[in-house]
Amino acid sequence: MSEQRILILLGPPGAGKGTQASRLAAHLGLPHVATGDLFRENLSQGTALGQRAKSFMESGKLVPDELVLEMLFDRVSRPDCAGGYLLDGFPRTLPQAEALTERLAGLSVSTLSLEVPDDQLVERASGRLLCKSCSNIHHATFSPPRVAGVCDACGGELYRRKDDDPAVVRERLAVFHEQTQPMIDYYARQGSLESIDGTQSPDDVFASLLARLDAGTSAGGRA
Ligand code: AMP
Repeated sequence: MSEQRILILLGPPGAGKGTQASRLAAHLGLPHVATGDLFRENLSQGTALGQRAKSFMESGKLVPDELVLEMLFDRVSRPDCAGGYLLDGFPRTLPQAEALTERLAGLSVSTLSLEVPDDQLVERASGRLLCKSCSNIHHATFSPPRVAGVCDACGGELYRRKDDDPAVVRERLAVFHEQTQPMIDYYARQGSLESIDGTQSPDDVFASLLARLDAGTSAGGRA
């Protein structure tokens, strides 16, 4: 088996991480591991973990690190992640990033950050529509479904996340600046961060991500 390839996609809520991560993961043949999706699955299945995460998620706060780390490390230990994986929505705090760095010591890691100014993020997040079946993402204005309320990819039912309400998005943005930005700065200080202009069209963002990954692959890069 070739060595593990690990990608980390960072960025504020509404920057397009979920859309780009599923596209990238499919393109590269890697599992897309999104901590927000894992929590939402736990929530809809009524697990103990989902119950513990619920109030944090609904108010736009971060779920405590120990719950996130346990869930994430369990997920990436599964056989489908043996060749690598793409992380979306993790890490989100400095302790999460440090725990990940320790776990991945010596492995090849690419860290990409989507940058979008705050004033565009509330509009983006509050128009977002998610598929109940396949987690595909539409946007009411920027990428409306062909049939209202129905996912183009699988025909599943579209819904709006409770935490995409504009008031909760503003809280999530405040949390991002307070707790997540210092973690992104940590990667930047290590010189291992690729910043991408997330205000481009989705196709251009995707092309930029691929170009950075290609450049990074030829230059090498280890945790
Ligand atoms: P997301 O789908 O990535 O926007 O995540 C939705 C919500 O799940 C967040 O607002 C948090 O409440 C929780 N969550 C997801 N990932 C993390 C994480 N890495 N650390 C803490 N909370 C998280």
